Amino acid sequence: MTFIDKRAIIIGGSLGGLFAGVLLRSIGWEVDIYERSPSSLGSRGGGIVLQPEILQAFNRAKVSYELPFGVTAYERLYLEADGSIAEKMLMRQTQTSWNLIYNTLLSHFPAEHYHQGKQLADLQQHKEKATAIFADGTEATGDLLIGADGAGSIVRQKLLPNYNPSYAGYIAYRGLVGERELDKKTAELLTDRFVFQQIPNSHILQYVIPGEKESLEPGKRRFNWVWYVNYDEATELPKLLTDKEGKRHTYSISPGAIATDVKQQMQKYAQSVLAPPMQKLIAVTREPFIQSVLDLAVPQMTFNRIALVGDAAFIPRPHTASGVSKGAVNAMTLADALVEHDHNVTKALAAWETNQLKFGMYLKDRGQALGDRSQFSYGKERIKNFSNLIA
Ligand SMILES: Cc1cc2nc3c(=O)[nH]c(=O)nc-3n(C[C@H](O)[C@H](O)[C@H](O)COP(=O)(O)OP(=O)(O)OC[C@H]3O[C@@H](n4cnc5c(N)ncnc54)[C@H](O)[C@@H]3O)c2cc1C
Repeated sequence: MTFIDKRAIIIGGSLGGLFAGVLLRSIGWEVDIYERSPSSLGSRGGGIVLQPEILQAFNRAKVSYELPFGVTAYERLYLEADGSIAEKMLMRQTQTSWNLIYNTLLSHFPAEHYHQGKQLADLQQHKEKATAIFADGTEATGDLLIGADGAGSIVRQKLLPNYNPSYAGYIAYRGLVGERELDKKTAELLTDRFVFQQIPNSHILQYVIPGEKESLEPGKRRFNWVWYVNYDEATELPKLLTDKEGKRHTYSISPGAIATDVKQQMQKYAQSVLAPPMQKLIAVTREPFIQSVLDLAVPQMTFNRIALVGDAAFIPRPHTASGVSKGAVNAMTLADALVEHDHNVTKALAAWETNQLKFGMYLKDRGQALGDRSQFSYGKERIKNFSNLIA
């Protein structure tokens, strides 16, 4: 019997890296994950729609979890500008939190193989191995190297230097509000429901997610809101992505770091265009955060013994609610391909890539169609005077 080496090096310890890590371990691979951040990632995330592939991946990797794995909304509401209900639709859907997914995966992955404070600086491929070289001068070598290092992926930059995310023309303002922080009437309207308000060239949505320490207890959960607003890349975006200490960020501003005048402008704009329940939600949000909406699609996901997964390869716009489940699908199908090809890495990666490229392209196209329709129906600008459009 031939002995096959099965050691994987994963760059990036967020959800994409952890899904790949637990799935590869489930088929008998030794796995080490290398994460740039020196501290835990598990306290910053917002809400995530619980797509079925997330639980499928947990089941496949025998990751234990409790049901319900989130908070269920029973209907969708669309609000008018005055806060009245324009449309109501029965639709059951569970929403969870980034933190709950992250902590569930992390608790299933051996701590001694999850290395923090390890920033990839360079890569090398030899005939049968791939080596990661870290900024601290150390190295790690495996039979398979996975780039799960997100939008700014160094793995991708080394292999496909001409493919980088592009700004889609709008950002997401986001926030979390404790159930008890909102007045009773507004809280009642927003609880158990996925609530939307569509306005010209913008929309906002909210749903309830687990609270602090992932509590599902009514009263201790959180309202999660996301508001898509158009900003010009050259003249407006740089200011939004400069934090309160004056530091410029590439794609996002974390909770607590938003500049005071940006926060105030957002609140003022909310008062002029959003329905009263959404205005209230934004007004009581202590630490709003910002994520730029990005587009990225690569033409190639495998490079001999290296594979790109998750946001390192494709960034579909968030309207597809697929950022996290895409990483789960990438990992499940990769494990399948390895088993099918007797753990022959190069054969398995070649077989895996075709469908994953198609899947990524499909999500990218779908997200662009949804986003362009909601944000650019009246041109690319942020609408300031609705009466012109409605008249
Ligand atoms: C803290 C955090 C909170 C998030 N919250 C939300 C949310 O609320 N809602 C939502 O829809 N999505 C959220 N996301 C994004 C979401 O998790 C991703 O869209 C999706 O899960 C894809 O994950 P990913 O692992 O491919 O990429 P990312 O989540 O971007 O992870 C990439 C990881 O790679 C690490 N990394 C980058 N460069 C290097 C390097 N050179 N060496 C080593 N490590 C490196 C990063 O530190 C990061 O942990 C969040 C991501 C993070 C990191």
